[in-house]
Amino acid sequence: MNKKHTELLTFDRENIWHPYTSMSSPLPSYLVESAKGVEIKLATGETLIDGMASWWSVLHGYNHPKLNQAVIDQTEKVAHVMFGGLTHQPAVELCQKLIALTPKSLERVFLSDSGSVAVEVAIKMAIQYWHSKGEKNKHRLLTVRNGYHGDTFAAMSVCDPVTGMHQLFDQVLMKNLFAPAPGIAIDEEWQPEDTAALEALFAEHHQELAAFIIEPIVQGTGGMRFYHPEYLKTCAALCKKYRVLMIADEIATGFGRTGKLFACEWADISPDILCLGKTLTGGYMSLAATLCSEDVAVTISEGEAGCFMHGPTFMGNPLACAVASASIDLLKENDWQQQVARLEAILQQHLLPLSGHKRVKDARVLGAIGVVEARQSVNVANIQKRFVELGVWIRPFGKLIYIMPPYVTEKSDLLKVIRAIATVLDEDTCFNA
Ligand SMILES: *Cc1c(COP(=O)(O)O)cnc(C)c1O
Repeated sequence: MNKKHTELLTFDRENIWHPYTSMSSPLPSYLVESAKGVEIKLATGETLIDGMASWWSVLHGYNHPKLNQAVIDQTEKVAHVMFGGLTHQPAVELCQKLIALTPKSLERVFLSDSGSVAVEVAIKMAIQYWHSKGEKNKHRLLTVRNGYHGDTFAAMSVCDPVTGMHQLFDQVLMKNLFAPAPGIAIDEEWQPEDTAALEALFAEHHQELAAFIIEPIVQGTGGMRFYHPEYLKTCAALCKKYRVLMIADEIATGFGRTGKLFACEWADISPDILCLGKTLTGGYMSLAATLCSEDVAVTISEGEAGCFMHGPTFMGNPLACAVASASIDLLKENDWQQQVARLEAILQQHLLPLSGHKRVKDARVLGAIGVVEARQSVNVANIQKRFVELGVWIRPFGKLIYIMPPYVTEKSDLLKVIRAIATVLDEDTCFNA
C-alpha cells in the first residue's frame, strides 16, 4: 500500500461513518480501486470475487458497458431536473416497465431516492388512504418479527424490535404491532397454525390498522430465512378480510433474486402497495419506487390534502431512471430466469453440503441466495480478512454467512466463493467463542 492509500484509509477511519460501525473502534475498511464484472479490485492489487452483489444490488456485474452507456448518454442530455412540473422520457419509460412487470394490481408509481424512503412513502400512502376515507383511527401498522424495512423512523418502527434495537428510540417510535415470525420454511410441510397468532392480531386490531407490511418469502437482514408461500397467501387473505392494506417490501427480493421475478409470485398475490429499491438500477445508483393500486392512488388524491404529501428533491432523477430502465432490459436480454436457475443449482450442489459441518446449524438456498447459518457468531474483522486473503468478498453478520452473487457469475467463480466459506468454517479465529 502506498502513502496516498494509507492517508485515505486513515482519514476514512478517523472521520467517516460506515454502515453500522463504531467511530471509536471501527471495523477495518478495504480501499477499492475499481470493479469489473464480478471482480472488485483493491488498491493493494488483490481482486476479489464478489459474493454480495453490493448488498443485493449488482445484478449484471460492475462496470457493464450497456449500463455505463445508459448513464453517459443520459448525462449528455440532462443529468438532473426537478420533477415538480417537469417530466422526461427516462422516468416515463421506467414506470411503464415497472407497471408491466409487477403484479397486476399495481398501476401507479412514486419514485424516490432509497429503499427506506420507499417504505416511508408506502406507510404514508396507507395512512393517508384511510384518512381520506374518514377512518382516521386506522393509522397503525402490523408486521412480523425478524423483519427489516430500512433505517428511517417509520421504516425502523416495523423492523424487528430486538435486532432493530427499538429500546434506543422508544420515546419517538410509532408503536406498531408484531406477530411472531413465520415459522414454517419454504421447503417444509405447511401447517395452518403458523398464521394463528397473526390472525388473532388482525381480528383484535383491524379497526386501528392502516396496513400490514412484510418482506415476501425472504426475511433478509432480519435473519435470512425463507418462509412458506402459504404464509404469504394467508397474509393477503387476512388483509382483504379485515380491510387492511397490504404492503410488500421487495426491495431485496425484486427482479429475480428468489427465482421469481417478484417474490409475491410464489404465493400468486397482488399487494396494494409494493416497494422496490436495491436492485432497481442494477447496482449503479440509489433509486427506489413505491407502486400502488389505482384505488389507493385515487382515494388519497380525493382526500383532505388533495394530493400525496411527499416530493423528494431528486425524485425521478433522469440518470437513475435511465440506468434502471437499461438494467431491466438486460434482465430480459440475459434470460435472468436461466441465470438464476443456474446459480441455484450450483449453490444446491456445493453450498448445501456445508450443513454437515460441525460449526454449521443450517445451510439453505433459494434462487440466487445461499445462506450458511453458523452455531457461533462470526468475528467480522477476522473472517473478513480471511475472505480477502482467499480472494472473495463476503460480509457476514451475526451467525450468518450469506451470498447473493451477481447473476452473471461464472461457475468457477461461484465455486471459489463457496470454497472460501468452507475454508473459514475450519478456522477458530473467524468465530466468537
Ligand atoms: C435494504 C432494505 C431496505 C432499505 O433500503 P435502503 O436503500 O438501504 O434505505 C428496506 N427493505 C428491505 C427489505 C431491504 O432489504
